Order: sequence, then C-alpha cells, then structure tokens
Amino acid sequence: MSKKHSSPFGNQSRLISRRSMLSLTVAATAGLALAPGVVRAAGGTRRVVVWSEGTANVDKGSKEVYPNDINKAVADGLQGLAGWEVVTATLSDPAQGLDADRLDHTDVLIWWGHKKHAEVSDDLVNRIDQRVRTQGMGFIGLHSTHFAKPFKKLMGTACSWREYVADGTSVKISVKAPEHPICKGVKDFSLPKIERYGEPFKVPTPDAVPLDGVYLKPNGATEPGRMGLCWTIGKGRVFYFTPGHETYNDFFLPEVQLILRNAVEWAAPSKS
Ligand code: ZN
Repeated sequence: MSKKHSSPFGNQSRLISRRSMLSLTVAATAGLALAPGVVRAAGGTRRVVVWSEGTANVDKGSKEVYPNDINKAVADGLQGLAGWEVVTATLSDPAQGLDADRLDHTDVLIWWGHKKHAEVSDDLVNRIDQRVRTQGMGFIGLHSTHFAKPFKKLMGTACSWREYVADGTSVKISVKAPEHPICKGVKDFSLPKIERYGEPFKVPTPDAVPLDGVYLKPNGATEPGRMGLCWTIGKGRVFYFTPGHETYNDFFLPEVQLILRNAVEWAAPSKS
C-alpha cells in the first residue's frame, strides 16, 4: 500500500490551521488558558481529536480508573507527538464535540464509545464517514468502539465479535508486523486483564494486522485474538485496537500510548 495519500486539505486550510496554532501557542506562552478541549497546542500543525462518550468518568468501577474520562487519558498519552495539536471532545459538547469547522480541520479522529452509541447523530456519522472516505482523515477506533456508528459505517459490516467476557482473562500482545509503522519501537507485552473479544470479528479483511494476541483464560486455556487491525477506506486509513476496557488502565500504559502515537502518525493524511 502506498504511503502517500492525497491531502484532504487545501493549502488555505493548512494556513488557517497554522495561524490558529500560532495564537494558541502565544496564549500558552503568555500563561493564558488554552481553548476548551485543547490538551496540547504548541507547535501543532496537524490536529488529532480524541473523542469519548463521557461515561467512563461517571460509572462505578471505571471512574476510579478514568476520573477525567478516557479521552483525556488517551490525549495525555499523545503529548509526545511532535507537531500535533491534541484536542479532547465528548458527546455532551456542542455539536457532539465535532462541529463542521472542527471536523474539517481534524487529521485523525480517535473514538472511544460503549453505552451511548445510539446517541451519536446520523449527521455526525455521515460527516465522519465522508471525511475519511473522500478526504483522507484517519480514524482510530478503540475497544468497544467496534459497535460505534462511525466505525460500523466505515466498515460496512456487523462489526460483532463472537463474545465479550471480562473474567480475569489476560493477554499476550505480539508484534506481528515489525516493519509496520504502528509497531515502530513496540515490543511484545502483556496485559494482566483484558475483556476478551472472541473471534471471529465481523469486519472486512484488513490490509494488515500489525498486532496479534493470545488470550489466557482463568482456566488455563488459550485463544487467539487480533489486537490491531488496519484498513484503507476510500482515501483514509482506519486502525482498530482491541484493548481499552473502561475498568482497566490500558490507556496509561507506555506500550499502549506508543502504539496510539504511532497509529496517529500512520493514519494521518500525507502532509504534501
Ligand atoms: Zn469493554
């Protein structure tokens, strides 16, 4: 697959983006508050928006792990990305966090949803789909996002797994495609707990599966399961990452944060 994408943005929107970044940088330097949702602005010429539905920071069992919700945890893990503005968005924000201007100036959209998929508007889903398909925006779906409306729209399939079990299963995640950009610097690692998503995963055949996994069940049995899958959808790139259950601290782990930083760079449309 070609590394080059056609740029989704004209030069004009690049300039606007850079100008708004400059003002944000000035504000940050002057000690002023950043715009709402902007976690990291300095030097950013590209924008990644991390969206979550706002339940993990409310529900018992997950709010202890993600008191600031999952979008903030994921965004904090992206701070090492050079040249990126990192923004959080949530369902209760105006326009569900992604008005036309923000979405049109988003290079990569990361999505975590679980209980509120149905509340996401069809209009937003269609706009996301078009941004990916016709303009090359990257989309990264995390864990229970497999049933999120934008992900299902992009895949065009049921997106179901065979089963969903959080029973103390652990997982060994292995780098299956070490040459893949998403695996850059990533070593095999384990998660002591994972919600087991049993194959088959009803999605189109991926272009690549850079990360594979083997579940270890409490009874000692093992079962394979894909952990990181890549597709090209129209002009855009899509990555799905299987871990990320709301009661586990996956998004604070350096290995997961590295994978997501790599995935953002991989999913981004070409700068040229
Ligand atoms: Zn889950």
